[in-house]
Amino acid sequence: MVIRPKVGVLALQGDFEAHRQALERAGADAVEVRTADELRAVDALIIPGGESTTMLKLIDIEGLFQPLAEFGARRPIFGTCAGAILLATEVLSPTQSSLGLMDLTVERNAYGRQIDSRIAQIDVAGQPAEAVFIRAPIIRRVGNRVKVLAEYQGTPVLAEQGKHMVATFHPELSASDAVHRRFLQKVSQPLA
Ligand code: GLN
Repeated sequence: MVIRPKVGVLALQGDFEAHRQALERAGADAVEVRTADELRAVDALIIPGGESTTMLKLIDIEGLFQPLAEFGARRPIFGTCAGAILLATEVLSPTQSSLGLMDLTVERNAYGRQIDSRIAQIDVAGQPAEAVFIRAPIIRRVGNRVKVLAEYQGTPVLAEQGKHMVATFHPELSASDAVHRRFLQKVSQPLA
């Protein structure tokens, strides 16, 4: 029998429904997470794209900052776009607080207003993949323990550190579930 991991999608704001569907296609049972109790019931979590400042405010209002930090110490978290901003140790333009689970410096809205959104071709582990960027951040610095999995225009767009992973694009909006499948591999691995 194949056991499907139970993966939460933080559903306070942003693009959570498309992640839920991508997770189901990739082989997980996906549930929306809005409370600390719901968080405790999942094996791993996706923090979706959206607006990181708004998401931070809602995390604060719901009293979820500490539960998320504690969850991330034990279980895998995948942050996409705004979620990547929330996982970084350092956020620029402007600076804001974050969970600091991956040793990254991330600059918000870094591609500029004129090119808010784009679809680019990237290479993930030798496979061509489509990356949908929407008011995306740029990863300006990666720490020693961070492994870069894909780059676009010379900067990392997909990276991992131990059990955690970030994408500055929206893998849930692509036809391929390869990026979600990679995250699910971390869920079934022994936790580092
Ligand atoms: N620009 C957003 C932020 O700074 C992120 C955009 C996204 O998640 N698509 O939070």
